[in-house]
Amino acid sequence: MKGLVIKNTGSWYTVKTLDGHIVESKVKGNFRLKGIRSTNPVAVGDHVEITKNPEGTALITAIEDRKNYIIRKAPNLSKQSNILAANLDLALLMVTVNYPVTSTTFIDRFLAGAEAYRVPVTLVFNKHDLLSDDEIHYQRMMMDLYDHIGYSCIEIQAKSGEGIEALKPLLKDKVTLVSGNSGVGKSTLINQLVPQAHLRTSEISEAHNTGTHTTTFSEMLELPEGGYIIDTPGIKGFGTFDIEPAELSSYFRDIFEFSKQCRFSDCTHTNEPGCAVKKAVEEHYIAESRYNSYLSMLEDKDENKYREAY
Ligand code: GDP
Ligand code: ZN
Repeated sequence: MKGLVIKNTGSWYTVKTLDGHIVESKVKGNFRLKGIRSTNPVAVGDHVEITKNPEGTALITAIEDRKNYIIRKAPNLSKQSNILAANLDLALLMVTVNYPVTSTTFIDRFLAGAEAYRVPVTLVFNKHDLLSDDEIHYQRMMMDLYDHIGYSCIEIQAKSGEGIEALKPLLKDKVTLVSGNSGVGKSTLINQLVPQAHLRTSEISEAHNTGTHTTTFSEMLELPEGGYIIDTPGIKGFGTFDIEPAELSSYFRDIFEFSKQCRFSDCTHTNEPGCAVKKAVEEHYIAESRYNSYLSMLEDKDENKYREAY
């Protein structure tokens, strides 16, 4: 019997079968997923094969190939990682220009990770009710920038619900990850989209403008219009991805466009002569913030701490 893993508590997986039944399942004892060393071989979003027991529970006997997945490294087990969610159709990156400040470096790192994992991203700018005129101006500039690069942007107020209706059609029948810094309004948005979710929201601490994580396990919440929202605590990016320095620019769409005209095909766009990317930054065809994010990721790679970038 085939189904979709919609919840992972660590020991049990909740599987929704194709005919709509909910079956609590465990992983077969000696089950290992080819090529992936994971402390937890099954993730929400996985399409699995289950075999039912007489007690009404089931064993997961096979996992279908994933089109993508996100990983969290186990803190002290450098070779092991946890697959948090699989088969994402869309990621919503929630951004707040203020309360808390979301940096362009954070956004660009997320976008690069999403490119590496081939997950489309929509940027959701939240809390514009709190912004000053200057901040609203800055937000519009950011929306123009990312829209121009090819990432659609939408402006909402999660708390009042403004803009939510415009977001709903984008999520219909998709598996969507909601990401962003603590305190940007992820739980508030999910509560608006999934009325039965009742996620606790965190009041942002006045002193630091940051919130605290209030969710505790991986779960997909079913949208009334069809589709699922992945609600996973502590996800900030797409985790590790191994790439060569000369490859990094292929995860920055705007930079990649110009890199084709660089003199050297393995140009890292730092000090090479005939670099079309540096020229494009000087001539403002590429935003300086994007180039700086690119350089900061390149530095991580040089210092071999790239894997911890998130
Ligand atoms: P999370 O950490 O990303 O899940 O953020 P929460 O959903 O817990 O929201 C953090 C705080 O921001 C809460 O106090 C929310 O009520 C508040 N908040 C969320 N959206 C908005 C908004 O559009 N406007 C304002 N003013 N506050 C918001
Ligand atoms: Zn170059």
